[in-house]
Amino acid sequence: MNIPFNRTHSFGKEYQYIKHAIDAGEISGNGYYTQKCHQFFKQYYDIDHCLLTNSCTAALEMAAILLDIEPGDEVIIPSYGYVSTANAFVMRGAKLVYVDSQKDTPNLNVDLLKDLITDNTKAIVVIHYGGFAVDMDAVMTLANGFGVYVVEDAAHCIDAYYKNRPLGTIGHFGAISFHSSKNITSGHGGLLLVNDDSFVERSQVIWQKGTDKTKFDLGNQAYYKWIDIGSSFFPSDITAAYLYAQLLNLEAVTAHRLMLWDYYYSKFDEISYFDLPNIEENSKHNGHIFYVKFKSRDIRTAIIDQLRTRKIIAHPHYLNLAESKFQNYKDAQPNTIEWEHRLLRFPLFFDLSTNQIDLIVEALHEFNL
Ligand SMILES: *Cc1c(COP(=O)(O)O)cnc(C)c1O
Repeated sequence: MNIPFNRTHSFGKEYQYIKHAIDAGEISGNGYYTQKCHQFFKQYYDIDHCLLTNSCTAALEMAAILLDIEPGDEVIIPSYGYVSTANAFVMRGAKLVYVDSQKDTPNLNVDLLKDLITDNTKAIVVIHYGGFAVDMDAVMTLANGFGVYVVEDAAHCIDAYYKNRPLGTIGHFGAISFHSSKNITSGHGGLLLVNDDSFVERSQVIWQKGTDKTKFDLGNQAYYKWIDIGSSFFPSDITAAYLYAQLLNLEAVTAHRLMLWDYYYSKFDEISYFDLPNIEENSKHNGHIFYVKFKSRDIRTAIIDQLRTRKIIAHPHYLNLAESKFQNYKDAQPNTIEWEHRLLRFPLFFDLSTNQIDLIVEALHEFNL
């Protein structure tokens, strides 16, 4: 049996809502379903401001614009991270300063942050890997003490929490992804959470290509003007219609993924050549990623190959951003390099069955060290 790494699940209402959007005769963005998605998050997360975007990448780019990042500014980001996290700030001219992971989780080591902050530091970006929360109290206390902004790359984090607060709603900005690799999807899609009221008005301008079209749409003025930089940051209402159908199943998705995650955890407990994930304190995750850390890179390579012969697909994850050809930093990120070499993600998607997990466990047991 083939076990892919990921597969998109549709719940059924997607077709109906897309048809409704088409029949309504208005499919450009910021329409009925876009508003439904905004309302969903405002209610579910108990927040005031969020904006649907074309991707999490786009939401991070909006955050970088809103923070007025410019050449000379430094932005601290995790070296065990995704290119979009880095690009959003590099595109505004920032110098990136990398913070290493912890030894026992891929999340950044909060204790290292203080020594990386300089007079030029404008923002700290955190990634909650796999929906496992970074210690946000520590990050916010430090950032507020130095007058530095915090952006949460919460791409993995829909319905995941730190001390009962949704991830992405704690820093000044949060960015969630609805890419098809994530728990809830619209193929491509994202959400910018604007958690600091002073950024709300400008966020709407940047979202609307740098214009005051939001006021025009409300009927307050006869035309709209170019008043700032901006871009075409929001998706069509067809995409929003698909997303809204998915969002209505959010609690079921999280519960089902957590069941599969726990099943992996209990079955993998017997295997000695890797370590199971450590869950951070105060973190309630969402079953986004099931990963393990191998004792060595060679064993990981052998296992990936062994699984492939059985048509089971497991993937490593990030490469150290600091060492990429594009950045070429020489400073060592020892824990990031360990995660780069030794982390492996197993198949985890809504239609995965526990029988399939049993087959994966069987394949692992066949492996002789
Ligand atoms: C998936 C992901 C992104 C990018 O999300 P898109 O919606 O595809 O732009 C950014 N950061 C992290 C940590 C991700 O996993």
